[in-house]
Amino acid sequence: MNLIFFGPQGSGKGTQAKIISEKMQLKHVSTGDLLRNTSGKLKKEVDSYINSGNLVPDELIIKILKEEISKPEYKSGFILDGFPRNISQVLALDKITKIDKVIEISISDEEAISRIVNRISCKSCGFIFNIKTNPSKLQNTCDNCNSKLEKRSDDNEEAIKKRLAIYKKDTSPILLHYKAITINGQQEIDKVTQDILNIL
Ligand code: AMP
Repeated sequence: MNLIFFGPQGSGKGTQAKIISEKMQLKHVSTGDLLRNTSGKLKKEVDSYINSGNLVPDELIIKILKEEISKPEYKSGFILDGFPRNISQVLALDKITKIDKVIEISISDEEAISRIVNRISCKSCGFIFNIKTNPSKLQNTCDNCNSKLEKRSDDNEEAIKKRLAIYKKDTSPILLHYKAITINGQQEIDKVTQDILNIL
């Protein structure tokens, strides 16, 4: 089964993708993570897009994603998180693979901004904490793997507002294209997981 999880920044789609991928043995692929892990010559260019809150060019992300999901570990199904972000990415994806279900996790702008400003994550295992509502047990240390926690460089208010505006502008046609099912992201994490499992 191939899924797409949609949602504004801070909706918890990455957290849910991690949980559901383990429960259902699906490979989780976040294009944001793929881009943040870019190395070599491309890194400087990619970082300048990410840090300003802009999208990287379609050709580049489509090439990176295509290479990634053609690896054998994606054969038995995957959850896409952060892709596609606009109609040209949708059309490219339609040519690469078939998507079975698209789920949108919806939250208000105020909630998104407050979650992102307080978000801190583990670069090593990807666990996400919120310094106000879900802090790690030890300050700056991941509960899951003991690595150091970091704030993402694009998790500042200016970049967040830009990312939310881009999300709103480009997302509606994508959700229509896939006939996405929307669930309420402003609930306990377990309840959101349950809502997703009910749909699947
Ligand atoms: P995310 O982790 O999904 O919030 O993505 C972080 C940043 O990576 C975005 O603000 C973009 O700069 C870039 N990015 C991630 N996915 C895409 C995509 N599908 N298309 C273009 N840029 C992307």
